[in-house]
Amino acid sequence: RNLKKHYTSPKRWLQPEKPAIQAVDDVSFSVAKGETLSLVGESGCGKTTTAKSVLRLVEPTSGSVKLDGEELVGLGSEPLRQRRREMQIIFQDPYASLNPRLNAGEIVAEPLRNFGVGNAKERAERVQWLFSKVGLRPEAAKKYPHEFSGGQRQRLGIARALALQPKLIVCDEPVSALDVSVQAQVVNLLMDLQQEFGIAYLFVAHDLAVVRHISHRIAVMYLGHIVEVANRDTLFSAPRHPYTEILLSAVPVPNPRTPAKRILLQGDPPSPANPPTGCRFHTRCPLAQPVCAKEKPPLSPRGDGEQLVACHFR
Ligand code: SF4
Repeated sequence: RNLKKHYTSPKRWLQPEKPAIQAVDDVSFSVAKGETLSLVGESGCGKTTTAKSVLRLVEPTSGSVKLDGEELVGLGSEPLRQRRREMQIIFQDPYASLNPRLNAGEIVAEPLRNFGVGNAKERAERVQWLFSKVGLRPEAAKKYPHEFSGGQRQRLGIARALALQPKLIVCDEPVSALDVSVQAQVVNLLMDLQQEFGIAYLFVAHDLAVVRHISHRIAVMYLGHIVEVANRDTLFSAPRHPYTEILLSAVPVPNPRTPAKRILLQGDPPSPANPPTGCRFHTRCPLAQPVCAKEKPPLSPRGDGEQLVACHFR
């Protein structure tokens, strides 16, 4: 709720007038058990910072993050470490996130060891069970990360994230470094695991085809704000916010007979150190009116109440 992450320069005393970078500014959302909520938007919109703030891998400037009703912001290091059992992350680059000096079995067993789960034999059995769940062969346990393909490495990352039976997994662009054919396998694996274990995913991605496949709901971010939230079908069939419309118009149309109606976004995103007043999108919005530069539109319900939109005119 009302999550903010503003970055100030470590040498702020040298340049006190230098404004903070408002990477995430007043963002609120929830993710239910067994649900996938995706965060989408162009590079630098704050989606990864938001996701990492939820896990407190990035310390929020202000706001509240609750897991099962328990506040995580301000929690001391040991209680937070215990709650981290229930919140895991899968990274974009599986290779960079795996320790090259450990074999695959040790990598997946590491979180179990860190939390003192079972003895060595029980952990080895659990590793084998996790391998079977993510489609890795038992003998893969003896291999090192460089011996796996990109897709297999990401399966390994998923097995490690699953080891402690988390309630929430933050997926930070988990398939964007993989070949397209492998992307589908990994996304389908994530969906199967969600069905089986009821895990909630906070899914950060810029590939809207992937997002459409995996999401239940989607939150669209622009310059540190959420500008629209809707369930997947509503967002893709009836987007309301002008930025969402522009973003979706960039998705390629598979049928060559259907003319593509691509809308081009004018200009570059403004600096998050000096964001526009009022609606942050007004400097690029084709529908902008004078009021848009003066008044910030609240994120408020439309239609059946499940679609939330931050726009004065939509
Ligand atoms: Fe565009 Fe105004 Fe709506 Fe912002 S509030 S999206 S500038 S029409």
